[in-house]
Amino acid sequence: MKCYLIRNCTRFLSTGQHTPKVCIVGSGPAGFYAAQQLLKSSGDVRVDILEKLPVPFGLVRFGVAPDHPEVKNVINTFHKTATNPRVQFLGNVNVGTDITIDQLRNFYHAVLLTYGAQKDRLLNIPGEHLNNVISGRRFVGWYNGIPADKDLDINLDMEEVIVLGQGNVAIDITRILLTPIDKLKNTDITSFALERLSHSRVRKVSMVGRRGPLQAAFTIAELRELLKLENCKNLWRLQDFTGVRDIVPTLARPRKRLTELMLKSLEESVSDSTQTKELNPIFLRSPVEFHGDDDLQSIRFAVNRLQGDAFQDQVAEATNEFETISCGLAVRSIGYKSVQIDSSIPFDGKKGRVMNKDGKVDANLYSAGWAATGPVGVILLTMTNAFQVGSLVCNELISSTENKAGSNGVRDILNAKGIQIVSYEDWQKIDRVEQDRGKQLGKPREKIVDVIEMLNIAAK
Ligand code: FAD
Ligand code: NAP
Repeated sequence: MKCYLIRNCTRFLSTGQHTPKVCIVGSGPAGFYAAQQLLKSSGDVRVDILEKLPVPFGLVRFGVAPDHPEVKNVINTFHKTATNPRVQFLGNVNVGTDITIDQLRNFYHAVLLTYGAQKDRLLNIPGEHLNNVISGRRFVGWYNGIPADKDLDINLDMEEVIVLGQGNVAIDITRILLTPIDKLKNTDITSFALERLSHSRVRKVSMVGRRGPLQAAFTIAELRELLKLENCKNLWRLQDFTGVRDIVPTLARPRKRLTELMLKSLEESVSDSTQTKELNPIFLRSPVEFHGDDDLQSIRFAVNRLQGDAFQDQVAEATNEFETISCGLAVRSIGYKSVQIDSSIPFDGKKGRVMNKDGKVDANLYSAGWAATGPVGVILLTMTNAFQVGSLVCNELISSTENKAGSNGVRDILNAKGIQIVSYEDWQKIDRVEQDRGKQLGKPREKIVDVIEMLNIAAK
């Protein structure tokens, strides 16, 4: 299969006489892995990666938790791709606003949309806009330095917090709230988040899911790390596990190990008074209303039961019972969603993703990563998807014989609008400043969170 693809892509030049040019929109893992695949499959292709922000790497920089630096090692691979002479990084280009998809489709033989999922899912329940009901995506952006989230107003002057959702993002958020501050201060967490967290009074975090332990979306390594936090007791609710133990032997291995870990932690649940912090996972509860005048005081939950046969497909159904749990902060972590960045992109608003069939959108338009699949999957899964779509793009480049303007066309439009393009070398200047500032603070980097400041450094 691989040989076939390579042969097809190499044939492009001999039959078409023009250098194939591909534009990738978004510089997260999907964009970089697709670029890597294109370079590998073709000896001629030129790849331009357009990125909305002046800095690359998407959620590897802005999503992956600061206390998981090893995950960010993928940046070394992305760096190799970015410094390949056949690749150009064009940062600070907001596709859909600064330049249209139709323009890009004219300038390139193929356009690949890898712009991720940049918005939140909402609960759409009363009180969702109260102070201190905040989006998990923005909370992550705040501690990870997304420019748009730097001024997020978070009050941590309360003891009880509820995190809504039970995916790995909910785990990250819960862990950041409960981790001793000393464990965060040498990470690349933003200084202002570190400062705010160092004065936090948060003592108890309840992580609430609408379904049961057998449907929890988090994975074992992430849960294990959370359960081992220093000075933190883990209090589960016994009634949430009714019947679960009997099902364990029938479960497939990953789910079985995860469930066994929860059951073990449930058995060990003790109210140890020497541990001042508390993790409180709660199942089978759906939020129906946030209570409070201006500030949040509590959340009213419907008590759910599960409906359906196969446990993995069971859905939560509300009963007539309710439970109210007090809290001063709620963090909604029920998933991200993609948006239609340009009206010409066929988009499924319901599923929140670009309409595509195995990465193919339409003619010379493709999509990969979270923009195409929806906001689920770790970097490895995103990589696999991007490799597949990268191969598809390369394979289909053969059909075009037209010469294309490529980045010259993009530059003409952006120059006419006075938009400063940030090259990969410019990003490296920003990177060096961040690392220098970090060194002074004993951190790997101090992220710059102001776009103007980034652009000024890039222009030097
Ligand atoms: P993204 O990484 O979101 O990249 C999309 C890029 O497109 C961004 O750079 C964005 O700025 C850019 N863009 C958006 N709109 C435009 C536009 N209009 N014009 C130009 N550019 C645009 N996976 C792991 O394996 N390990 C982890 O520890 C881990 N932690 C995570 C933590 C969080 C909080 C989240 C949300 C996810 C995490 N993941 C983790 C999953 C991983 O981040 C994703 O699998 C991966 O980032 C998806 O890659 P992507 O390229 O599709 O999207
Ligand atoms: P996720 O894994 O899809 O979890 C979303 C959670 O929100 C689920 O518990 C879901 O419950 C719940 N939810 C959705 N809609 C809801 C509603 N209306 N009411 C109540 N609860 C609702 O999404 P995520 O946590 O944002 O993570 C996204 C991806 O990034 C995942 O693949 C994750 O593994 C990955 N990631 C990985 C890491 C890591 O490897 N360390 C870290 C962070 C993220 P239901 O199951 O009932 O729908």
